[in-house]
Amino acid sequence: MSPLDALHDAFGPAACLRAEADIAPYAVDWRGVYRGQPVAVLKPASTAEVSAALLRCAALGLAVVPAGGRTSLCGGVVPAADGPPSVVLSLERMNRLRAVDALDNSLVAEAGCTVESVQLAAAEAGRFFPLHFGAQGSAMIGGALSTNAGGIRTLRYGNARDLVLGLEVVLPDGRVLDDLRRVRKDNSGYALRHLFMGAEGTLGVITAASLKLFPPLVVRETALVAVRTPHEALRLLARCQASGAELVAFELIGRPCIEITLRHGQNIRQPMELSTEWYCLVEAGAAHPALPVREALEAALMAALEAGEAEDVVICESEAQRRNLWDIRETFPTCSRMEAPGLPTDTAVPVSAIPAFLDAAAALIAGGWPEGRMVALGHMGDGNIHLSLQAPPGTAHEDWARRGAGFEERIGEIAVELGGSFSAEHGIGVSKRGAMAALKDPVALSLMRAIKAAVDPAGMMNPGKVLP
Ligand SMILES: Cc1cc2nc3c(=O)[nH]c(=O)nc-3n(C[C@H](O)[C@H](O)[C@H](O)COP(=O)(O)OP(=O)(O)OC[C@H]3O[C@@H](n4cnc5c(N)ncnc54)[C@H](O)[C@@H]3O)c2cc1C
Repeated sequence: MSPLDALHDAFGPAACLRAEADIAPYAVDWRGVYRGQPVAVLKPASTAEVSAALLRCAALGLAVVPAGGRTSLCGGVVPAADGPPSVVLSLERMNRLRAVDALDNSLVAEAGCTVESVQLAAAEAGRFFPLHFGAQGSAMIGGALSTNAGGIRTLRYGNARDLVLGLEVVLPDGRVLDDLRRVRKDNSGYALRHLFMGAEGTLGVITAASLKLFPPLVVRETALVAVRTPHEALRLLARCQASGAELVAFELIGRPCIEITLRHGQNIRQPMELSTEWYCLVEAGAAHPALPVREALEAALMAALEAGEAEDVVICESEAQRRNLWDIRETFPTCSRMEAPGLPTDTAVPVSAIPAFLDAAAALIAGGWPEGRMVALGHMGDGNIHLSLQAPPGTAHEDWARRGAGFEERIGEIAVELGGSFSAEHGIGVSKRGAMAALKDPVALSLMRAIKAAVDPAGMMNPGKVLP
């Protein structure tokens, strides 16, 4: 019996896909950039089945690529094109909520629950799960933790890893690390769970997570503020933070991004006259209706206007207005692709260095790619600006990718020179392994290699990803 027949026999047709058409969606990443052919797709339905799958794959010499919602942007979720024979291990059938505890403010979700379904379950229990990003309807908890996803609320609640109390992980040798804790304090040695978050499936398979919940935000006040420069945006951020209006989000949006969304988005209304080059989407929130969020935010925004540090302010009067502002922000990635090809980046710098980062990026583009246009927006409150080099309309994607060679790497170098990171929230996958080799501290890299060798000595967990 061939190794594949053995797998098929062990898992049955519902949990072991082998037909070309069934496997095809797992052989390409969300952007259609990375391709790698798995020999089979396994869909275990329980932790015990994941354990059995890893044991069998190890015995058969097959590498394992874990998969969640397959929305990651760095190519980590498809087998490496030049790697060993691999199976994709999809967690999509492990989508049960194991527990919700409003008193502990915790929820235990299996890895295949979508981020959105966890938000909804938390809301049903009168609680709030704050992780929020554009792909949340498809992205799954296991994938979000494995990439340590960020999103718009990192400013207040932290990244995905900050929302975790404990994990259940199946190790490459089939053992189960049962660390599904709900306690808030546990200083009993190394915080092992953090090894698996951000590991992008290279150390084991996350099968479930105990997640932190928060009081729901019953008041939200949202505003769009026109500023002339990123420096003014920085001062506005400081004003808002000092105002007492607890910020939930603070996004910086370049004018071209709003124009592009107005051109291609559906049912998007122009929120104000576009008189400046930069806009701040500011949201503050509180868990009790009597808290004076609006007063505090209004006072900060009016002070900025009076100081000449803001040009115009719109404070939302309705949920429809608020939704419109967030639609502008959240539909931009899709609208941008309709406008022209772009070379997106994902870096972070200390918040105070954002103006210097944007100046350096503009100078880089003017010097190296004068035919391109800088479009920038991002999570200013946590220093993560997504900057893209956009091609002139009509340019073919492949042509622009070729002409833009080196751009993403240079932006990563600028971020690192300013004390930041070449990978803010999307991870390393395949696309940033070169940057890992060039820019990551060598001591950190050697520690990572030692951990990988200790946990996965045969190198069968998602080979060709993360580590250069
Ligand atoms: C439109 C759009 C908007 C986005 N916006 C944001 C954003 O604002 N912020 C942000 O951080 N990201 C964003 N992303 C990127 C992406 O959604 C996140 O990286 C997300 O966390 C990936 O989750 P997933 O379930 O799709 O993971 P997948 O793509 O399935 O997998 C990601 C990686 O994790 C590994 N993996 C998956 N599941 C497991 C598991 N159970 N155990 C071990 N390893 C596993 C995979 O092997 C792969 O290496 C966006 C993507 C899109 C398409």
